[in-house]
Amino acid sequence: MAESTHQSSYWEDQSFLQSDVLIIGAGIVGLSTAAELLERKPDLRVTIVERGLLPSGASTRNAGFACFGSLSEILADIDAFGEDIALATLQARVTGLKRLQQRVPETAMDYQQHGGYELLSAAQMPLLAQLDRINQLLMPIFQAPVFRRVEAKINEFGFADNRVNALLFNPFEAQLHSGMLMRWLLKHVQSLGALVLTGAEVQRFRAEQDGVHVELSSQDRNWTLRSEQLALCTNAFARALLPELSVTPGRGQVLITEPIADLRWQGTFHAEEGYYYFRNIDQRILLGGARHQDFAGETTTEFGDNPIVSQALDTFLHQVISPNKQLRIAQRWSGIMAFGETKKPIVKRHDERTVIGVRMGGMGVAIGSSVAVQLADLLLA
Ligand SMILES: Cc1cc2nc3c(=O)[nH]c(=O)nc-3n(C[C@H](O)[C@H](O)[C@H](O)COP(=O)(O)OP(=O)(O)OC[C@H]3O[C@@H](n4cnc5c(N)ncnc54)[C@H](O)[C@@H]3O)c2cc1C
Repeated sequence: MAESTHQSSYWEDQSFLQSDVLIIGAGIVGLSTAAELLERKPDLRVTIVERGLLPSGASTRNAGFACFGSLSEILADIDAFGEDIALATLQARVTGLKRLQQRVPETAMDYQQHGGYELLSAAQMPLLAQLDRINQLLMPIFQAPVFRRVEAKINEFGFADNRVNALLFNPFEAQLHSGMLMRWLLKHVQSLGALVLTGAEVQRFRAEQDGVHVELSSQDRNWTLRSEQLALCTNAFARALLPELSVTPGRGQVLITEPIADLRWQGTFHAEEGYYYFRNIDQRILLGGARHQDFAGETTTEFGDNPIVSQALDTFLHQVISPNKQLRIAQRWSGIMAFGETKKPIVKRHDERTVIGVRMGGMGVAIGSSVAVQLADLLLA
């Protein structure tokens, strides 16, 4: 029988406290893993435990780019991690995006294929010499060139032409509405029979002979749930439960402007190896990033503002994207990403009852569904 500090009832034990798979974390990875499991095995008893009232990590606080890497970012990743790892990670993002599109109707996540762009500065112009090489490398994945130069659009879009020396276009990139996506996924897994418990933080878990015992605290009391298997999908927060994991949190700041009547462009945009990113949404500009302006300050699992980063975002907005225009900021927020020695996620079996799918490397919208497929494979093996 499942225990708790208060006695649980027979009914609670039977219907709520036992499962075949318990997933910790209701972000895109946790929910997609639940979907993957229940789509394959409808009778499985799946419980998802989420510490927030809403999913409270990155999945409801990101920028909603359906992307796999800009030219400068791919080149930087090849330099840092080697061609094999960089390409395998990129391929996993592309596969993840395909899986996401198979599962979620485009209208349910407002998926819009406006394409993506990268702004290159004067200092980055030498990267253009690598354009053909990278297009060739990606040819087996896309069967067409991915990046092409579209400099005429720099003025058309109203960007600062003294700061933007080249503009690249990637027709394979898209954007989506992260709130709609997450709400759809939540509804989807519940319609498939998953039990979603929110406002409940897992404190610890341990494998026993009769299953894995998961201790969680909620506002009313502490509970212990028992499950045949466990999936840890807590991304940046993974070390709170498994301190040995190589996961470094990276906070990301985002701002959104008030609606702009004459916004001249649509699409997803990257600059400075992906450290700045912006897009259109509802006639507004959503801009995020600048973490590289204060790496130390943003290496945290705490949500919150960072004046250095906010200032850098404001400067980028007013000096590069919309020079000479005073745009009003409507809202700012932060979310927490997870990084490691490479951008490859950690997807592995931890012990005979537990699997781990964490460290999305800042691109979990894309790679999250790929990780879910791998986790479901491990859990159902
Ligand atoms: C500002 C920002 C912009 C981004 N933009 C993009 C983008 O445009 N495109 C893209 O592909 N990616 C983007 N990302 C990255 C992407 O959002 C993440 O990689 C992805 O959401 C990670 O999903 P996840 O499910 O692994 O983690 P999360 O969404 O963080 O989910 C983990 C969940 O676990 C819960 N949890 C943690 N500990 C416990 C516990 N002990 N008990 C119970 N629950 C717990 C958390 O509350 C959280 O809800 C961005 C991220 C940020 C922060």
